[in-house]
Amino acid sequence: MDSWPAIDDMAAGVQKAELRAVDLVKRSLEKIDKSKEYDALISINKEGALERAEAIDKRVAKGEKIGKLAGVPFIAKDNFLTLSGKTTAASNMLKPFEAPYQATAINKLEAEGAICVAKANLDAFAHGSSTENSDFFVTKNPHDKTRVPGGSSGGSAAAVALSMVPFALGTDTGGSIRLPAAFSGVVGYKPTYGLVSRSGVVAMASSTDVIGPLSRTVDDAALILEVMSGPDELDSTTISRDKKPYNDLLPQIRGQKVGIIKEYFDEGLEPGVRQVVDDAIKKLKSAGADVSEVSLPSLPLALAVYYIICPAEVSSNLARYDGQRYGHFAKEARTLQDSYKLAREQGFGLEAKRRIMIGAHVLSSGYYDAYYKKAQTVRTKIIKEFEAAFLKYDFLVGPTSPTTAFKIGEKTSDPLKMYLVDIMTVAANISGVPAISIPAGMSDNLPVGFQIIGPQNSDRKLLAMAKAFEGLK
Ligand code: GLN
Repeated sequence: MDSWPAIDDMAAGVQKAELRAVDLVKRSLEKIDKSKEYDALISINKEGALERAEAIDKRVAKGEKIGKLAGVPFIAKDNFLTLSGKTTAASNMLKPFEAPYQATAINKLEAEGAICVAKANLDAFAHGSSTENSDFFVTKNPHDKTRVPGGSSGGSAAAVALSMVPFALGTDTGGSIRLPAAFSGVVGYKPTYGLVSRSGVVAMASSTDVIGPLSRTVDDAALILEVMSGPDELDSTTISRDKKPYNDLLPQIRGQKVGIIKEYFDEGLEPGVRQVVDDAIKKLKSAGADVSEVSLPSLPLALAVYYIICPAEVSSNLARYDGQRYGHFAKEARTLQDSYKLAREQGFGLEAKRRIMIGAHVLSSGYYDAYYKKAQTVRTKIIKEFEAAFLKYDFLVGPTSPTTAFKIGEKTSDPLKMYLVDIMTVAANISGVPAISIPAGMSDNLPVGFQIIGPQNSDRKLLAMAKAFEGLK
C-alpha cells in the first residue's frame, strides 16, 4: 500500500482492532527508510514510536477508548519541542538541545493517540523558503531531486508527499506551510492567528507565527486542526475556537462570493502557474461560485512590511540564545563576553545573523520611525484592505507562489530573490487571516498550489470551501 487511508478511518480501524498501531508505525518507518535520499528528516524516533504503538494496541485489547487519532503516525517539523529525542530547529545553536517540556500541539495530538515517528528538516529557525538554510543538509523535492521542496517546512511537506506519514506539522510565519505544500504537491493549512497554541514551538516572529498541518487531503487537515486548536493557558495569544467541529465539513461552493486577487496576477507569474490557477478559477465558476476580480492596492507592500517586522521580531526572539543557559556553548571562551560572542558566532548561520542585523537596525533609535513604525502603519492598512474585501467576498483566491519549485542553489546567493518567493503568502500572516494551499495541477511535471484565503476565524468555512474545491474535477 503506497498511500495512507483517511486519518479518521485509520484511527477507527485501530480502535476496533482491525488495524494495529504497531503495523502503522512499522509501515511509516519502512517508508522513511526507503526515502532516505530525499533528506527530509533530522531524527527518527523508532523505539519511542514503536513503544507508544504497542501501548496503544494493548489498551485497545483491554477495551479502552484511545481517541480521534488512535495509532496514527505523524512527523513534526524540528522546531516543535518534543520530549523524545532532540529539538534542533535545524540550527547548530540547538544541535545538542533536549527539550524539558513538550509543545502543546504535540501533547494534544498524543492525547488523541497520534504517534510522532520523526522530526523533519527545515530552514534553520524557520528562516527561509527552500530548506536550503538548514544548518545540516538540504531536503530534495519529491517530484524532482534537483529542486527544493519549498520552505521552511520543506521536510514536513516532502515527508507527506513521499507517504512517510499521513500528516506532518509545520509552522507558517510568512508562508512556511503553504509554500512547501505548493512546491511538494500536498495540502498545507495556515489557521487564523492564535487558533493553535504556540507554546513549545521555537519562536520566529511571534506576531505572525502559526502552527498547522500538511496532509494529503483537506479532511485530514481539518481533523488535525480539530484536535490541535483551542485556548491554552501557556499561550496568552490563543483565541477561543469554533463551537462546531472543524472536521465535520459540508463542502460548499455554490453562491460563495470569491474574489480573485488582482495583484497576484500582475507580472512575475510563471505562465504554467497562471494556466493551472486560471483553470482552477474556471472550475470554481462552473461549480456555481460568484467570482470576480478584486484589488487590494497595498498588497504589493506586504513583502516589504513582512521583511521589516519579521526580522525585528526575530532579532528579539533570538536574543535568548546566549550560550549560557541551553543550546550551543562555546567551550573555548575565556571570558563571559567571549562566551556570548562565540556561541552566537558559531551557533547562528548566515540567514539568522542577517535577520538579527536587519531587525536590530530597524528597531534602533533613529531608524525605528523610518522602518519599523512605518511598516506597522502599512500593516494596519493591509489589514483594513482585507477587512474591506471580506465585506464583499467570502474568500479571496490566487496562486500560492508565482513559480513552481526552483532548482537547488538557484537563489542561495541572492537573499532578495529568496525573499521574493514569499510574495503571495506573507499578507495572510501579517493580517492573521487563515489560508490554505491545495494542489491544483501540474506545470512541467511540478505541482502548482491554489491558495484560498478567508476572513479571521472563518477556518471552518474555509476548510469546507477547500474540500469542495478539492472534489472538483
Ligand atoms: N519564507 C519566509 C521567511 O523566510 C517565511 C518563513 C516562515 O513562514 N517560517 O521568513
